[in-house]
Amino acid sequence: MNSEGAIRLRPHHLLCVQRFRGLGYSDVFVENLSEVVDHVESGEPVEVVRGRDDVCSACGEDCDEESVAERDAAVLNAIPEPTLASARELSAEEMRELCRGCRWFAVCHG
Ligand code: SF4
Repeated sequence: MNSEGAIRLRPHHLLCVQRFRGLGYSDVFVENLSEVVDHVESGEPVEVVRGRDDVCSACGEDCDEESVAERDAAVLNAIPEPTLASARELSAEEMRELCRGCRWFAVCHG
C-alpha cells in the first residue's frame, strides 16, 4: 500500500485480481491476495507500479522477473491506460492471450 492507502499493483496483476480463485503459492500468499482483491472490489484506490508490488510482497517464490516484466509489458501494450477500469474492459479472448504461458492459466481460464 502506498502512503495514500492505495494498493500497489504491477500491470499484469490488474488481470490476476479479476481472476483470483482462492489458490496461490502459499497460505500467506493467498491470504494477502484475498485482502488485495477485497480492497480492489470495494473500490479502494489502486496505483499501478513497475516491479514488485503488494502481491509480490507476500510471495516467497523465486520468480523469473524477466518473464514477469514481459507480461507486464504486454498488458501495458494492450490497454490504453494502465488502470483497473481499462483492464476490466479486456475481452475474455484478449485476457487469455495476455495470460498465455502463466502457470495458473488453467485455474484462471478453466
Ligand atoms: S493466468 Fe496468470 S497472469 Fe493470468 S490472471 Fe491468472 S495468474 Fe494472472
